[in-house]
Amino acid sequence: MVPGELAKLKKNANPELFRELPAVDELMRNRALSPLIEEQGMPAIADAARTVLARLRGEIASGLLDANSLHIVLDGVNGAIEEQLRRELAYSLQPVINATGVILHTNLGRAPIAETAFEHIREIAAGYSNLEFGVEAGERGKRDVHVARLWRKLLSESANGAEISTIVVNNNAAAVLLALNTLAEGGEVIVSRGELVEIGGSFRIPEVMAKSGAILREVGTTNRTRIADYDNAITERTRLLLRVHRSNFEISGFTEQPSISELRDLAQRRGLPLMEDLGSGALVNLENFGIRGETNVLDSLRAGVDLVTYSGDKLLGGPQAGLISGRAELVARMRSNSLFRALRVGKFTYAALEATLLAYVKRDHDAIPALKMMRLTKDDIGERAEQIAKLLTSAKLKIEIIDGESVIGGGAAPSSVLPTCLLAVTSQDLTADELAARLRRCTPPIIARVEEGRVLLDLRTVFPAQDQKILAALSVIAA
Ligand SMILES: *Cc1c(COP(=O)(O)O)cnc(C)c1O
Repeated sequence: MVPGELAKLKKNANPELFRELPAVDELMRNRALSPLIEEQGMPAIADAARTVLARLRGEIASGLLDANSLHIVLDGVNGAIEEQLRRELAYSLQPVINATGVILHTNLGRAPIAETAFEHIREIAAGYSNLEFGVEAGERGKRDVHVARLWRKLLSESANGAEISTIVVNNNAAAVLLALNTLAEGGEVIVSRGELVEIGGSFRIPEVMAKSGAILREVGTTNRTRIADYDNAITERTRLLLRVHRSNFEISGFTEQPSISELRDLAQRRGLPLMEDLGSGALVNLENFGIRGETNVLDSLRAGVDLVTYSGDKLLGGPQAGLISGRAELVARMRSNSLFRALRVGKFTYAALEATLLAYVKRDHDAIPALKMMRLTKDDIGERAEQIAKLLTSAKLKIEIIDGESVIGGGAAPSSVLPTCLLAVTSQDLTADELAARLRRCTPPIIARVEEGRVLLDLRTVFPAQDQKILAALSVIAA
């Protein structure tokens, strides 16, 4: 017995049973385990065996096992060791099926990357590459060059003659930090009170501002800010005017906000740069995807914003990254800031970004999964839902197809939703929460929404090849 165990014994526990437990050495000599030992090595198996024995000691101490049940458990101890090992050696990070209908779901990894992006990561990351090497000249190069030419192509038409460049950092929070630190450290940045947002995952403008060394100068009120408020707040300490996309909420009713062109005129008149934290910067016109009223990166630059910050894994549909696009001389200052070195990204990100941007250059928008999902019509989705529903006839599950709405998510277009068809599932024996939990226990886990006592599955965010898995999972639950 392990010291201290006696003290923890529950009333109905039988301490005699501890003696029945085999020692680890004894278990290791068991023939039945030799193939596993050969395959995974003695230390891993011994470790798993110790964990299993510790669990059994706990169960004996808690009185959960009597002599009879202990013997049954010990008969299956090899299986338990194997199962324990399987669990220890399994990945924690694993794929899930997103049936929530939220296309850019931060908890589910935001944008799935394009197949070409994955291929490019694979070829670049599994070997050596010219990440910072000019192959022709045979000398040191810059990692930016791989995407710079593509950004130029994509953003040149929005430049109004000015030269636009783009810099890549780890995420949009880093992009905002780098931009504020470069342009406004020790000085003031003017922001409307209506834009002092918190984005999921604890991104708060006032906190990022403080870390950047810039001083936040709030103007206006939560619901109304006029251009004169900005104008009146400008002093010799002012370094930057900042507009922040409200991302995950809307203010409606008695509201006022200056237009981007008013802000640009003011910035130009007072000789200050204007920056916009777009958050979910799209590189296409979203109206073509059924989303209205969301400015994209090109719109902002065209409207005269000097710098735009946005994420790589939101509406752009690429890898996690933070992008700063804007006037070349301002971006050059960020590149030479030592903070940039601390926030730079690696070859995986450059590879994935390059492939994603190339899809935009080729106008192959369907190659980008998030954009493809946005373009699916309600009928496309309804047909797939029908396919699943018609193959499931069970007294235990009731499946209906109902109208619903998919959400863009990721802080894009808070009010923009796309019409969809949902599979609405109810069970005779399980509550909606229990049913959703059963779906999460599938391999891969299926993540659904629960609303008004029903489990709702939106196939917009499910890859068509995964429909089969949803059907199989529901069939098992229905059996
Ligand atoms: C999402 C978002 C951020 C944070 O971007 P990350 O890439 O998650 O760091 C910042 N600002 C706005 C407006 C956003 O929508």
